[in-house]
Amino acid sequence: MKNAFIYTDAYLDYDYGPTHPLRIIRLKLTYDLINAYGLLDLPSVQFIPTIKAEEKELAVFHDEEYLSLLRQVNEGFALGDAYAYGLGPGDNPIFPGLFNLSLLVAGATLQAIDFVVDGNGEIAFNIAGGLHHAMRSRASGFCYVNDPVIGIMRLLRRGKRVAYIDIDAHHGDGVQKAFYDTDQVLTISLHETGYTLFPGTGFESEIGEGKGEGYSVNLPFPPETEDDVYVWTFDEVVPELIHAFQPDVVVTQLGVDTFYDDPLTNLHLSLFGYERVLKRIKDLAPKWVALGGGGYNIFNVARAWTLAWAVMNGVELEEALPESFLKEAVKMGMEERGLRGRPRTLRHSQNKENRTEMERVVHYIKRTVFPRVEE
Ligand SMILES: [Zn+2]
Repeated sequence: MKNAFIYTDAYLDYDYGPTHPLRIIRLKLTYDLINAYGLLDLPSVQFIPTIKAEEKELAVFHDEEYLSLLRQVNEGFALGDAYAYGLGPGDNPIFPGLFNLSLLVAGATLQAIDFVVDGNGEIAFNIAGGLHHAMRSRASGFCYVNDPVIGIMRLLRRGKRVAYIDIDAHHGDGVQKAFYDTDQVLTISLHETGYTLFPGTGFESEIGEGKGEGYSVNLPFPPETEDDVYVWTFDEVVPELIHAFQPDVVVTQLGVDTFYDDPLTNLHLSLFGYERVLKRIKDLAPKWVALGGGGYNIFNVARAWTLAWAVMNGVELEEALPESFLKEAVKMGMEERGLRGRPRTLRHSQNKENRTEMERVVHYIKRTVFPRVEE
């Protein structure tokens, strides 16, 4: 069975702007590091160049008027009511080709979905995907088109049960909202609490509504949460829910803005904790569509998604970064270090408080969500 890596250098034709934290170059850096480790030459790997989605494929979720506006601002100029749709200076800038980029990203996610559903393989990774904040008719949090939702909707149309696991530092609000009232998609989001971070939602009490009650799960972490508390919480909640729900496909948003040195967030994970979580997801997922997500330290992005791709392919990587990559990255400003870096020293007092808070959240989830989720 092959694993698909979906990518194109065409992403680099687009730019959110010189002061925007989301830098497209992080995708190229990731591709370069994966390549430098030889992880695209493995017999298990199929490289698939990204193909744009068609506009009608986005319309399964997004509002026609919103899509038509995105098409019109693709030239890079603002139009009359763009602001009402979340577009404009700030988080969701209007830049030349923004609709083209959205079509590429959503296209890659649909390619990943088709790859696993058509039986070509069990794992597919779209590092450009995971734009989980976009709403039906509104751009939000650097996201214009919600590729996870569009991908999951295709899975549903093909008769699949889907579990969505989102490990980005920000709550996966757009995906949760799209499936809040259905029991056909189980969404689980692990994120920094909405008290301290955008988008300010994702509290444990948000468990879904109607038929979907119990099928939206939120694990909000306090600032400075470290690996052990994070992985403990994951283990207490996620495996049991996946076993109860029995999905055909697991879709994951693998945002890497959870690390202690991410400039936008306050969680304190390391690549050691990230790797532990990735290995657990691999064991849990019968088929796995992996999408990228946030991550604003571009060198962390490259290292973490390379580690993720290695886990997907069952390869253990050397800690020393390949010389060719290291030279380039240091020139771009990376501190010299290895793939995972040094383990973090735990700050015990904070850790204990965070553990107590997460015990409370886990207890709440076990009481409210566990009895509701079934096959
Ligand atoms: Zn994020």
